[in-house]
Amino acid sequence: MKHSSFHPPVLIIAAVLFAIALDPVSGHGQSKEASKPGADAAKRNALLSTSLVWTFGSKQQHGWYIYTPLVKQLINTKQDSASVQFARAVARWQAKSALKPSGVIDEETLYAMIKTWQDARLKDRSVATPDQLLTAPLSDFYDPTRAEELRQVERRTYAAYKRMVAAAVGDRSLGLDHKGSELTSGEKYLKIISAFRSREYQEKLRREAPNSGSAGLAVNSPHFTGRALDLYVGGEAVDTRDANRALQVQTRVYQWLVRNAGRFGFRPYCYEPWHWEYVK
Ligand SMILES: [Zn+2]
Repeated sequence: MKHSSFHPPVLIIAAVLFAIALDPVSGHGQSKEASKPGADAAKRNALLSTSLVWTFGSKQQHGWYIYTPLVKQLINTKQDSASVQFARAVARWQAKSALKPSGVIDEETLYAMIKTWQDARLKDRSVATPDQLLTAPLSDFYDPTRAEELRQVERRTYAAYKRMVAAAVGDRSLGLDHKGSELTSGEKYLKIISAFRSREYQEKLRREAPNSGSAGLAVNSPHFTGRALDLYVGGEAVDTRDANRALQVQTRVYQWLVRNAGRFGFRPYCYEPWHWEYVK
């Protein structure tokens, strides 16, 4: 046998060391491991994921469960948010971010994560010039009757969007209805809801949505650039209510975007699961 040179005692020692390394709560309460979060941190995360009170755009928020897919991507873990492994991934991110590595997503850590996402968004929000825009075909849009003047997209953003859709279509686990590398007319997922908006059109939207605060329709919208795309990710297309966003972030398509959109130059807007910005 190939491994006959291994002696049983060596194997036992190796197995014990391996078990210690894997045991999520080993060292809990011992000074040696005191800095490593354990079951307590996991419990805190389970609680705070639905109960942490914080504010976003002057609106009070409850919990961070809606952001779990983005958090997992950020801290590079696939583990459940109530697990010890997740808490340890949080702690590693906290340490890198000069925060106390408690392993708990409290207010301070959540704001630091949101700042990371917000800082990665488009900085220049200048209105696109006509030569920077193209008119995308109706077949790319969620609303099959959308007017031509509302189908403008910045050229490079559109090319990147098409590459991203082709990749999503090629991922059979998403089950997107397609013909070649294009979505069919019956497939709603990843279709464009809204792209370039003129200042006039944004003002009209704001008038029609009187409750839009700073977390709603922006005065200085990234949609002016033609590089922001609202894509269909499930549920009510662009409804910010928690129940709707909670549903959207659980769709395979949204979770695929969280993991893959960056490869195509797109960054998320954490508060709106449908809103993606091309930042290259
Ligand atoms: Zn948007």
